[in-house]
Amino acid sequence: MADCRDTITQLYAYLDQMLDDEFRRDIDRHLGDCPDCQGRVEFEFSLKARIRSRAATEPVPADLEQRLRDCLNVDLDAD
Ligand SMILES: [Zn+2]
Repeated sequence: MADCRDTITQLYAYLDQMLDDEFRRDIDRHLGDCPDCQGRVEFEFSLKARIRSRAATEPVPADLEQRLRDCLNVDLDAD
C-alpha cells in the first residue's frame, strides 16, 4: 500500500503515466484516502497542463526570428 512518501516520490511518474498498473492503483487508493496528496497531484497536474498549453500556443517572438536571420546574414556576408 502506497503512503505519502511513495506518492510524492512517484508523483511525476504518476502524472506522466509511467507507473505500472499495480503501483498506479496503489497510489490511486492512497489519493482516495489522503486529501494532502490529492491536492498535490491536482496542483502539479494543472501546472503541467498550463505549461504545456502555453508552450503550444505561444509563438516564437518576431524579433527573435529577425535576430536569427540577421545573424545568418552577417555570417554569409563575412564569408
Ligand atoms: Zn498522502
